[in-house]
Amino acid sequence: MIPLRQNIASMAGYVPGYQPPDIASWIKLNTNENPYPPSPAVVKAILQELGPDGSSLRIYPSASSQKLREIAGELYGFDPSWVIMANGSDEVLNNLIRAFAAEGEEIGFVHPSYSYYATLAEVQGATVRTFGLTEDFRIADFPERYDGKVFFLTTPNAPLGSAFPLAYIEELAGRCAGMLVLDETYADFAEGNALDLVRKYENVVITRTLSKSYCLAGMRLGLAIARPEVIAALDKIRDHYNLDRLAQAACGAALRDQTYLRDCCRKICATREWFASELRAVGYTVIPSQGNYLFVSPPGRNGKRVYDGLYERKILVRHFSDPLLAHGLRISIGTQEEMEKTLKAIIEIG
Ligand SMILES: *Cc1c(COP(=O)(O)O)cnc(C)c1O
Repeated sequence: MIPLRQNIASMAGYVPGYQPPDIASWIKLNTNENPYPPSPAVVKAILQELGPDGSSLRIYPSASSQKLREIAGELYGFDPSWVIMANGSDEVLNNLIRAFAAEGEEIGFVHPSYSYYATLAEVQGATVRTFGLTEDFRIADFPERYDGKVFFLTTPNAPLGSAFPLAYIEELAGRCAGMLVLDETYADFAEGNALDLVRKYENVVITRTLSKSYCLAGMRLGLAIARPEVIAALDKIRDHYNLDRLAQAACGAALRDQTYLRDCCRKICATREWFASELRAVGYTVIPSQGNYLFVSPPGRNGKRVYDGLYERKILVRHFSDPLLAHGLRISIGTQEEMEKTLKAIIEIG
């Protein structure tokens, strides 16, 4: 027997959404990737960084990603000392747990939301407490004073799509004795964000990613915004060269092209609203969404049956076996053409 830590030996490990090997033959709507290519400026920047013979790759990248902190800081209205770059926002979520929750200490989050928080806590040996949602989209039984070390709030919520009102998030910041991490993965598709709360409350952290709205899931780029003391702590923990050279080049170009980002998000939101109304017209229940996905349930409330029907037609969506979610499906928003094909298939499946 190898001498593994007990919690690692007994944990199941996170299962990411399926990535089919023959990707071109699928309509892939299962992991909230963006259907559009990234900004042309991103491709240009990567090629330029690579150079004719790739010799730049001999040299380590900037350890601090300082330039990117400046660009992101300017974009969001913060001094660069309030920003840290990450190899996907998953990296910074992990480091937040490592910085704030010791073995045996508690982290909390809403269920349903992003179950990866639980996996990260398990690795750390931290304990997990989950909270349900009420009918009016508030956290059920959230204590007047929550004393877990970190509370993760996914807003807009994934997989459901609703965002929490800013006033409610502000109230939670006051009720959390530990850190309140706002996972704003989908904020670029939403009507608002909570960046102001980072300035107002020392326990608030915001995480963002370039995976979804910037069409760069394959580059692994994320960031966090928080007080400089928090950023300094996260800086001690991260891999010192966490962003490679090509990722740094891509990130700078992507963040600078806000016109492309806005156009892309506008297209996806328009397709999302069209698809939602078409599904409602055929009897589906559709939760209003501020993300690039919809949580929908068919009239017969048998999500798995529709999942299977779509799978046979080479359309991949997400079905969760969790009893709270099994009646429905989470469908990422693809191009208008992909969603027209998906709608046709859904009607055919009946
Ligand atoms: C996709 C997703 C992430 C992970 O983003 P990466 O930057 O690709 O690591 C984090 N949180 C939520 C809620 C997500 O949906």
